[in-house]
Parts: sequence; structure tokens; C-alpha cells
Amino acid sequence: MKALIFILLLLSFSFAQLKVVVTYPWIGELVREIGKDKVNLHVIAKGTEDPHFVVPKPSHIAKMRNADLLIIQGASLEIGFLPPLLQQSNNPRIQPGRQGFLDLSQFVELIEKPQRVSREMGDVHPEGNPHYNLDPHNIPVLAKAIAERMCQLDLSNCSLYKTNLEDFLQRFKNKLKEWDESLEKLKGIKVVQYHKLYDYLLQRYGLVSLGTIEPLPGIPPTAKYVEELIKKAQGVRFVLQDVYHEKRTSQYVAQRLGAKLVVLPHDVGAVSEVKDLFSLFDEIVQRLNQ
Ligand SMILES: [Zn+2]
Repeated sequence: MKALIFILLLLSFSFAQLKVVVTYPWIGELVREIGKDKVNLHVIAKGTEDPHFVVPKPSHIAKMRNADLLIIQGASLEIGFLPPLLQQSNNPRIQPGRQGFLDLSQFVELIEKPQRVSREMGDVHPEGNPHYNLDPHNIPVLAKAIAERMCQLDLSNCSLYKTNLEDFLQRFKNKLKEWDESLEKLKGIKVVQYHKLYDYLLQRYGLVSLGTIEPLPGIPPTAKYVEELIKKAQGVRFVLQDVYHEKRTSQYVAQRLGAKLVVLPHDVGAVSEVKDLFSLFDEIVQRLNQ
């Protein structure tokens, strides 16, 4: 009898999927690439949502209650919705500092770190710019970090995770070459963006940002601010707009500057063409080269 229970237990463990909750679709894509059918994945935000202002839902709490691993983008990006979800999940395994909690921002060099950490002006980037996932060169190190943590939590499938990781990294490396070649042609081009969403991408490929439609990250523009922006942003070729902010101000700024308004996806699912990490960067490259 004992032996039978032991075998049943062993079977249940070997067939159990690793339960992973992630905050954003692009992180989910990495988990899916590495874990495939060994992982039960739940993604909190939709690709069409503002990553700063995701609507927390009870269904997320239920998933977090049973999760083995929670992976976040970090750098305060989730601060508006994640802390109450984490608390209400009442799951000690996925709390900060535990093995079941992985903050990906620790693996990249954050840019635009403020001298003085403060949210008093409404700035939603108190630790620096959290949108590091939009530089495709940051993706491989993050994929490795996720695979390593999945291995620690699920040793039985570790060799499979490593194989899947290597396969992903190879395919991604090939695409990186292609994206680099296309985007390096845009070096020196001047842009304005709505939010500081694309700064890592702009920095990587040498595009020059002459300002943002928002006076501060998270703060909507006033008419006076927009006029000042137009004065200092002469010579821009693109006004970069995300999918979730109002577009009227960008349209107006683009028209006044004789620039082209380009709507760029910021995550998987932001526009219908973007179904995974590969098509995310394909689409960004294509829209910037149109
Ligand atoms: Zn932001």
C-alpha cells in the first residue's frame, strides 16, 4: 500500500505543471518558449493595456494563490496594481525575497535613474525607466534568468528547459542581426514620443529623442506645454505613440512639426500583428522603416 501511494505521489509530481504567473505578455512569451507544456501560465496584463495602470481582477488573485513562481518586470512598473494582489493571494512562496518571486529588472542596467527618488510630482518612473524590454538586446539575458529560476523550482524538467532556452536563444540571435541591420539605418533620426516607452530602443540604435508629449511620465500634457514642445522639437521625423494613450495630441504635434505619427506596439498583443516576441520586434522595425 505504501509503495502504491509512493508511486502515485511520484506520478503526480512528475506530471504536475509548474504554475507560473507573470505580469506582462512579453514575460509570458519567454516562459512559454522555455517551459512549453510543462508550465501552466497566467498573464496578468493585456498587451493593449497601459503597463503602469493594469486593472487588478479577482481572477488574478486566485491564480497567484496557487502559483509556484511569479515573474515581474520590476523597477516600480507594477507598483500601482501588484502589491494588493500579492497580499491578497496569501501565498508565501511568491512573496518578494522568496525563490518563487523573480524581479527581472535586476538583470539589466536601468537608465534615467532620478537623482532624488520621489513620486510627488506624479512621475511613474521613480527607480529609473522600467521599459527595458523594448531593447531586443536585453531579451537573451532575461530568458536565461527565467530558465535558471524555473530549473531551481522544477529540477525534473530542467534539462528540457535548457534545451528549449538554447533553441530560443539561437532563433532570437538570428533575428537580432536582422533587426540591428534595419534599425542602424535610422541612427541620428530625431523623434518625439508620448511616454518614455522607447528610450532603451532609441538609445540602442542612436535615435535622438527631443522630448515627450507627457511633461513627466504619467502626467498628461497641457496646451502650454505642447506649444513649448513644438518649439524645441523642430526637425523630428517621427512622433512615436503607444496604443493606449489618446492620439489627438500626437496627431496635432506631428502635423505642426511636419513629422510622421507612428503607433508602435510595446508588448505582445498590443496590435493584432504582434503574437510573440519575434513579431513584436518585427513590427516595431517595420513600422519605423515604412
Ligand atoms: Zn513608463
